[in-house]
Amino acid sequence: MSKDTPDPMRFLVRKVDSANRVDGILLSGSIKHGDSVITVPSGQQTSVMALEQNGNKVTSAEAEANLSIDLTYSVKLLEGDVIACAENTAEYADQFEASIDWLANEELLPGRSYRLQTITGSVDAVGSRLKYRLEGEQQIAANTLQCNERGVGNIALTSPIIFDPVLTCGKLGRFQMLDKTSGECLAEGEIRHGLRRASNIHWQALDVDKDSRAAIKNQTPRIIWMTGLSGSGKSTIANLLEKKLLAQSHHSYLLDGDNVRHGLNKDLGFTAADRVENIRRVAETAKLMLDAGLIVITSFISPFRAERDMARTLFAQGEFIEVFVDTSLEVCEQRDPKGLYSKARAGEIRNFTGIDSPYEPPEHPELVLDTVNLSVEEAADRIIDYLQKQTT
Ligand code: ADP
Repeated sequence: MSKDTPDPMRFLVRKVDSANRVDGILLSGSIKHGDSVITVPSGQQTSVMALEQNGNKVTSAEAEANLSIDLTYSVKLLEGDVIACAENTAEYADQFEASIDWLANEELLPGRSYRLQTITGSVDAVGSRLKYRLEGEQQIAANTLQCNERGVGNIALTSPIIFDPVLTCGKLGRFQMLDKTSGECLAEGEIRHGLRRASNIHWQALDVDKDSRAAIKNQTPRIIWMTGLSGSGKSTIANLLEKKLLAQSHHSYLLDGDNVRHGLNKDLGFTAADRVENIRRVAETAKLMLDAGLIVITSFISPFRAERDMARTLFAQGEFIEVFVDTSLEVCEQRDPKGLYSKARAGEIRNFTGIDSPYEPPEHPELVLDTVNLSVEEAADRIIDYLQKQTT
């Protein structure tokens, strides 16, 4: 039968590599970079970010192609699911009307349970009612089908399947009926149309979450929590680290005293209570930024173990990377980049960490950077290496 409209795009997922990358076969239609697509049955809308055919990047592909697809957002997909063009999606239901070519010697028994096999998988099926038998174009009343007879009837499934009417997509519209015990093929069929939408299908809006925000940035969000004495090198290393991340097209944000103490935390001083509150607010802000999909670097003395541990508890396993910038008080005091140690020694500044306020070094940091033996460059590279090892 000829059709005026082009075949709708249908892509069968054969392998899920990640939440936004899948391998599979283009069953019908064509696909190109930027196309708006919908996942079936999860019903999430996303778009095509990149296509690969035989390991080569391509901008478009035609039916029958084996492809890897990168999607713009993370979606819920399983092997056997379908990605369809957003404007004309595939169906998902547990009942349809079909034409059946009966091939077996024993007759079709409406009411018996058979195995129904489609390109997306298999499910138990019962031929609920035969409507008629076809002799050429003629419809003849019938309750059963004998070998080599064709009929039309309704089929009910124990769970919904993804399909199309055969005229919409031949590959998603054909099925076989198998004997459940022997696996023998008893019939071949073509779906004419769905009868009832499965009640458990929701064409829900895309859930925008941390994973999808991170996926669009092509990165794994992390908190790089730098701790150490004043003058140990936190800000210097953090600044270079951010430049290096930017050069690798990563999206990051550096939270440090300058942008926090002058705004969000300008009401706080340096008493122990204020330091605790300072770190609590920084940790909560970092958490929001992580949720936005960013790699967040925090550069605060954060002298108390309890607050750093509290910050760690806000994040999932592996997300929080505590980096101890380990520089002795003597070296920090010699460097004294802001002249603060000499002021503290002169009694002009109170509660100065290392002088008259304690610093509690981390017990189990993910990384220790000894800035006496490492250059700024080497220290930043250590963090980059750590991030890379963690994500491979
Ligand atoms: P913090 O942010 O920890 O208070 P800063 O980064 O502001 O420390 O200051 C550290 C000072 O130490 C800077 O003047 C920096 O140039 C100097 N410095 C010398 N060697 C290193 C190193 N290996 N790593 C980091 N900083 C270093």
